[in-house]
Amino acid sequence: MAEWKDLRIDMSRLKSDIETLSKIGRSPEGALGRHAFEPPYEEARAWLKARMAEAGIEGRDDPAGNTFGRVGPQDGPCVMSGSHIDTVPDGGPLDGALGVLSALEVARSLKDSGLDLPFGFECAAFVEEEGRFLDCMGSKAMAGQLDLEEVAHATDPHGKKLTDAMKGAGFDPARIPEAQRPQGDVKAYVEIHIEQGPVLEQSELPIGVVEAIVGINHTRVIFEGEPDHAGTTPMDLRKDAFTGAAEYAYRMRRIVLDEGTKDRARITFGIVDLLPGAANIVPYEVSMMQEIRDVSDDKVDLLYAKGETLAKEIAEKHRLGMRYEYQSRNLAAAMNLDVQARIREATKALDLPFVDMPSGAGHDAQVVSRVAPAGMIFVPSKGGRSHRRDEWTDWPYLEKGANVLLQSVLRLLYA
Ligand SMILES: [Zn+2]
Repeated sequence: MAEWKDLRIDMSRLKSDIETLSKIGRSPEGALGRHAFEPPYEEARAWLKARMAEAGIEGRDDPAGNTFGRVGPQDGPCVMSGSHIDTVPDGGPLDGALGVLSALEVARSLKDSGLDLPFGFECAAFVEEEGRFLDCMGSKAMAGQLDLEEVAHATDPHGKKLTDAMKGAGFDPARIPEAQRPQGDVKAYVEIHIEQGPVLEQSELPIGVVEAIVGINHTRVIFEGEPDHAGTTPMDLRKDAFTGAAEYAYRMRRIVLDEGTKDRARITFGIVDLLPGAANIVPYEVSMMQEIRDVSDDKVDLLYAKGETLAKEIAEKHRLGMRYEYQSRNLAAAMNLDVQARIREATKALDLPFVDMPSGAGHDAQVVSRVAPAGMIFVPSKGGRSHRRDEWTDWPYLEKGANVLLQSVLRLLYA
């Protein structure tokens, strides 16, 4: 029997799985689309369970449409790893698929090792992560965080109902609550995912250990002035809404850099509307969509409040009107410190350099973290690209990442 610290995944199996799955749901023109509960997705689900069966692992769908395979003790708490096999329209081959197939390869490696596992290990494919109907629907169902009212009303962009899509795939939406796992059933969760950003590639590091998934606040900041003639109105008599907006955007950037979490806070003005939008008229209204991101919800709240104070000050200074209109927020999700520590130990044991980093995008791990200790491993994304056909990560990075996942899982099992 192998010593667990020496266990490694079989890259030829993982590579072949990634290549095969990337063809399921691919159109003749090359676009990859696997939308939850639609035929290409169901084909991928059947294929995944067949791969499990070949390895002597029984695949099981829960009533929400998630798919699991378990090795080791069949009862009691488990360590779990997973992600999603649905894609965005014209998506890439690795977003989600990497996490599911790496978890499957970990399950096979554990089974082949002959190790007597102290707990079960489950690989998971959470359905409907991409939110065609409803964001992270499958992991929310497992975590008991799904609003059944929302399920009843959720539709895809063509108006098709989630409940009809589920029925079409043989699932009964009324049974969704049965997918919830009891408290303590998932002892720990760890997910591997592509970074979907440029940080790891640019620093030439193979592994990122995710500390937190960022919180986001969207607020519309509006300055109101007067539409005067651009030639006849002297500079000191104008009420130029753009002057206020420009000063605001510039100074807010400084505040976020100084007072947000170091290297983790972000501010973006991604939409700016200016009225009336003529070269010879002083702008009378500028509306900017302000997006604040930080790994700490307290910092998001602080920066949001600072923005309001600053906007008032600037409006007064330039004799403008001002509106500060909150739009929406997503709460941050801190990754579990112990799971993070196991991932770092595994990475060090494999002699790989790594960096601690936030995740700027949402993942199933964010949902699972509300009910179980959760962590995430990132591997580099080529050019930082994702949600598109040329999304890619070189094979050696994928192999390293999958081995870090295996060794993290082993540490969580034997901890
Ligand atoms: Zn994903």
